[in-house]
Amino acid sequence: MEITMDCLFCKIAKKEIPAQMIFEDKDVIAFRDIAPQAPAHILIIPKKHIPGLNDITVPDEALLGRIQSIAKELAIKEKISEGGFRLVLNTGSNAGQAVAHLHYHLMGGRKFKWPPG
Ligand code: 5GP
Ligand code: ZN
Repeated sequence: MEITMDCLFCKIAKKEIPAQMIFEDKDVIAFRDIAPQAPAHILIIPKKHIPGLNDITVPDEALLGRIQSIAKELAIKEKISEGGFRLVLNTGSNAGQAVAHLHYHLMGGRKFKWPPG
């Protein structure tokens, strides 16, 4: 049994908390980050509660592939595909994961540094 009661992104997925939604299908939603770190900063999440990448299993592979495909389409819509963009998935405390519901950051519209801080 998944414990999702206090999960912020589960609440956004269930529309219990508002977000600037930009994509939805039966398994995935995408919405604008509340504190954007780039001109375009979108969070893409599975509707189902997966705490992070440490928790995925083989049956989740199609879902993760689908999310990356959606990221590509949203990058086109946001006009960041040609200039380049970053797709980031923070996992655990060293990476700074703050919300324990798997999410990809799709960011673009400015130049990013490498290596990341
Ligand atoms: P993390 O640090 O876990 O990789 O990223 C969490 C992200 O969620 C942060 O970029 C943060 O700004 C964003 N965030 C946190 N709370 C909310 C919220 O209530 N609504 C939206 N749209 N984004 C949020
Ligand atoms: Zn959740």
